[in-house]
Amino acid sequence: MTDGRHPGGASSHGNDLSGVTLRGNILTPQGWVSGSLHFDGRIAAIDGMPADPADNLDPYILPGFIDLHVHGGGGKDIMDGGDAVDVIAAIHARHGTTSMLATTMTSPLSDLENALEACGHACRARRPGTARVLGVHLEGPYINPGKLGAQPDFAQPASLQEVTRLSALAPVKLITVAPEIAGHLEVVRMLSDSGMRVQIGHTLGSYEDGVQALAHGASGFTHLFNAMTAFQARAPGMVGAALAHARYSELIPDLLHVHPGAIKAALRAIPRLYCVTDSTAATGMPDGDYMLGRQQVHKCMGGVRLADGTLAGSTLTMDQALRNLVGLGLDLADASRRVSTYAADHLGLPERGRLASGCHADLVVLDRKLNLTKVYVEGEQIGLTDV
Ligand SMILES: [Zn+2]
Repeated sequence: MTDGRHPGGASSHGNDLSGVTLRGNILTPQGWVSGSLHFDGRIAAIDGMPADPADNLDPYILPGFIDLHVHGGGGKDIMDGGDAVDVIAAIHARHGTTSMLATTMTSPLSDLENALEACGHACRARRPGTARVLGVHLEGPYINPGKLGAQPDFAQPASLQEVTRLSALAPVKLITVAPEIAGHLEVVRMLSDSGMRVQIGHTLGSYEDGVQALAHGASGFTHLFNAMTAFQARAPGMVGAALAHARYSELIPDLLHVHPGAIKAALRAIPRLYCVTDSTAATGMPDGDYMLGRQQVHKCMGGVRLADGTLAGSTLTMDQALRNLVGLGLDLADASRRVSTYAADHLGLPERGRLASGCHADLVVLDRKLNLTKVYVEGEQIGLTDV
């Protein structure tokens, strides 16, 4: 223990490791290990033997959750700017999210600049008690105005100049684009060449548009099945392009946005299907009215909807996403990869989303009913009260 941040949570280790030691069923990239995990800000060592967790009653130790699509929580929206991003990153950390992308709404440039300026501060310096904000997911405004979903009506053709301006304020890691808009394929190529991940979403594009976008460097799909052209026998649509060709795609497993059967079909088709929450300000709040960007939404019965009934993001948290996947029949190791490892891989982050020596000490401890008991972000224990 080097800095006194982990009162009561530390124990010493014979090999001169300072920091924290946790014991349980540890999910490593090589499989389950029954033993001890030692860490401070990074994972120092994992000691133990390969084991089947079914043979004991010890807790599970998994990589912390990674959520690449977070709009809000705790009554705040990323578009609020100011300290909203810290409030949101704190709420989600208490549900096991150890790193995330702050996700914008389709909005006028000045609103986006305001939001990204605040996100830039959070990216440069993580506040205690919060998830690491890895960067920004721009959800639009370069989407199809005919497939806004719950996005407000500020869709516009893509502008590289704008993206460059926004990237100067905060690191844009991921951008959702409708590829069928004139000129967008070239933009997809340039954005992906610049190192951003481009996801296809909020789109009326055809199967062929999707295949072309993938050939131009797009690497994922935004909330698969939602706000995209559906699968039909003679017109497989954007859903068909994803099912036939995607290596990565995000999906909202709140069991409201996508039918369990559709989730199972996607799991068969897309090797690295991963989960996001698409969570709104209403996450972690009682039923009532909230703002989603500039639009009012109503939370009731776990759903968040516009006045016309359109689903408008979710109140999902990543710990519930994990439980929902296991409830659908996935084994825990597979479910864990889909709430953590694959998202890290999509962004090219080998030091997150896995429990291995040298990786960031981003981890969650769950009891045998899959309830969170401990969360660590880069070695800092997060208080779980008020969950
Ligand atoms: Zn969203």
